[in-house]
Amino acid sequence: MTTRQELRPDPRIRSRARRAITAPMVAALAVGLAVTAGPVPVQAAPPVVAQEWGSLMYRSLTRQKTLATLKSTLTMQQTAAVTRTKEVSQATAGLAAAQARVTTAGTAVTTARARQAAAQTALTTAKQKLTKAQKKRPVSKTAVTKARKTVTAVTKVLVVRRTETQKATTTLVTAQTAVRTAQTTLTKATNTRAALAAALAVTRNRIATLPTAGAYADKAATMSRDVVNQTRTGFVVADTMTVYGTTVHRSVAYAFRRMVDDARANGIAISGGGFRTKERQIELRKINGCPDVWSAPSSSCRVPTAIPGRSLHELGMAVDITSGGKTLTRTSPAFKWLVLHAKAYGFVNLPSEPWHWSITGG
Ligand SMILES: [Zn+2]
Repeated sequence: MTTRQELRPDPRIRSRARRAITAPMVAALAVGLAVTAGPVPVQAAPPVVAQEWGSLMYRSLTRQKTLATLKSTLTMQQTAAVTRTKEVSQATAGLAAAQARVTTAGTAVTTARARQAAAQTALTTAKQKLTKAQKKRPVSKTAVTKARKTVTAVTKVLVVRRTETQKATTTLVTAQTAVRTAQTTLTKATNTRAALAAALAVTRNRIATLPTAGAYADKAATMSRDVVNQTRTGFVVADTMTVYGTTVHRSVAYAFRRMVDDARANGIAISGGGFRTKERQIELRKINGCPDVWSAPSSSCRVPTAIPGRSLHELGMAVDITSGGKTLTRTSPAFKWLVLHAKAYGFVNLPSEPWHWSITGG
């Protein structure tokens, strides 16, 4: 619909909801979907289907960014995987070395024990010789002294051998502890590598299965009629927001803003009249010469004007687009641009009105 009046934003609307829409807001909305599926206070948020529409369009329009982030994550994970594999190799080598030290220490203990036993045997023999020398008659002092000296010397050797056995045993215990530590290190390194491998698989899978931008937009398009029907019930003006001077429903705000931005980047200026109140729609029915306000078909008006309560403008889900202050016609460059691109932003044209673009085309 295209009267001059209707394209001018309603001053009441302008003063009411001038909020900036941000990507994090939409992202939070999208994330919130899963969490707040339970009871939600009435009027606190648009219907879930409308939020889902907004979320799908957000994912569609940020798909490249998401893919870039995933690819950078993959690269980081791959680099980390090399490090983790190196750590596992090092831990494996560390364990092997620790086990070798246990073997060596075990052999040393066996050797030390044998030497201790030999010293013990030598002492027993020396003591027997001393006893024998002491009992022999006549007593040979020289023989007794010599036997006693041997006992003393062998006793000293035995003390040394015992100390050696203790030392070898301590070394063995230390080596065994080192093996347990090395085993723990290896287990940790192996688990860390396994966790990273799993994360890598998840990232690869997310990249492989990331829907195309078109798939997201197509899915949103299949929901558009439900979005309109469900939004109509319980719609509140607070569900709208202003994007570059155009008031639209907050579920479509991000997509609309991106459409305006991307068009501008292509040298096409887009603006327009979005939301209007039911009161304004009633007024327009009169201004546009409809036979009556409530029942005459839209086409019977001088300028096609929907019956109050049926217009998507009353939900902020339709925009009458202007370019450079002029209402679009089929020959406007902006119209041609929209024909090619609007679908990617969830907007469809009503064929009878080149200026009227909405989420259902209605
Ligand atoms: Zn319109």
